[in-house]
Amino acid sequence: MKKSLVLVINCGSSSLKFSLMEPNSGEEVFNGIAQCLLLNNASISFKMNGEKQELSLKAPFDHDVAISALVAFINNNHLFHQITAIGHRVVHGGEKYCHPTLITPKVKQQVHKLAKLAPLHNPANLVGIEAAEKVFGHLAQVAIFDTAFHQTMPEKAYIYGLPYSLYKEHGIRRYGFHGTSHYFVAKQASIHLNKPLEQCNLISAHLGNGCSISVIADGKSVDTSLGFTPLEGVVMGTRSGDVDPGIIFYLVNQLGYSLDQVDNLLNKESGLLGISGLSNDCRTIEAELLSGNVRAKLAIDVFCYRIAKKIASFSASLQTLDGLIFTGGIGENSSTIRGLILNQLSLLGFTVDEQLNLEKRFGQQGNINSTNSRACWVIPTNEEWVIAEQTQRLLTSIGE
Ligand code: AMP
Repeated sequence: MKKSLVLVINCGSSSLKFSLMEPNSGEEVFNGIAQCLLLNNASISFKMNGEKQELSLKAPFDHDVAISALVAFINNNHLFHQITAIGHRVVHGGEKYCHPTLITPKVKQQVHKLAKLAPLHNPANLVGIEAAEKVFGHLAQVAIFDTAFHQTMPEKAYIYGLPYSLYKEHGIRRYGFHGTSHYFVAKQASIHLNKPLEQCNLISAHLGNGCSISVIADGKSVDTSLGFTPLEGVVMGTRSGDVDPGIIFYLVNQLGYSLDQVDNLLNKESGLLGISGLSNDCRTIEAELLSGNVRAKLAIDVFCYRIAKKIASFSASLQTLDGLIFTGGIGENSSTIRGLILNQLSLLGFTVDEQLNLEKRFGQQGNINSTNSRACWVIPTNEEWVIAEQTQRLLTSIGE
């Protein structure tokens, strides 16, 4: 039977992730990724019905070539005519975009303008939009912004302790990211709670290579740990999270760092990688922890303590707390990290059920709290489904 399918595109500067799915059920037809774009070892892989296929891309190895390979795959599988729309992940929507938005030349101009707030992401997202428009120009293209879910934060949560003119004149405020993921897992938690999302009070911890904690009151984001850029907040894979800004002056004035070197240090050489000196991959660090590596232990201790502190401080934003959610590559798979964080949060009424915690990995969803504890769930995120579903919903509402 013919289905209406949405193609979801998440374009980075050197990669293009895609997923073709049925937007109501979230059923995925295939997914894949083009990697190492603009390099001469660029490749594209497709996963369909559990089988993986990898192809080398031809020169000029760019996003257009990746989209052409994607279209060839779609045609070979007779799926082209089932695609009804394209949903694009766009990282920064600033204050302007708090809803899914039909992409027009004006919207593209605004996304381009917002590139000054997300120089690594928005230009790459635009490249993906334009490459897709060349082939799927007959279809509506919709932007789903990663910042949108957090646009409900109150002023007291998003204003920095800086001169107010920096906000008014230059947009320097906290925006938050990972919004699509926090929204998805909060919605899933509302199903576990058997009440509408609008009545749920939650804290969600998206722990992957990038990490963020969000606090959700009555279904709306009221605070989140990532800020003006995705550098603020808890310790991440290679990003430092919060540090005393005075350290930057010390690095520059006393140790002779250039600003580019500081940027690189805080974004690419810090976090789990910087503390452990081993890797940004939690699996490697956990393996080293088991063999007694003290720096691996320190990295995990700092990582978990900072996250627990952020969760505890975010409880101040809520009148009640229905539960805590773990998601992202680490949150979905690491019982060690989840256990350490929960053990630090006994004052908030969390105790872990060791067996349930151990069982939750590789996409399993459910509670990990003991019977007398506040609820805590592991919920695998699915940003693609949100993008497909919101794309479809927008088009239905405007009668496309
Ligand atoms: P993400 O950015 O959400 O894809 O998450 C990526 C991170 O998840 C990787 O860097 C790993 O550190 C972590 N991860 C994935 N699988 C596991 C696992 N089984 N145990 C611990 N960490 C994991």
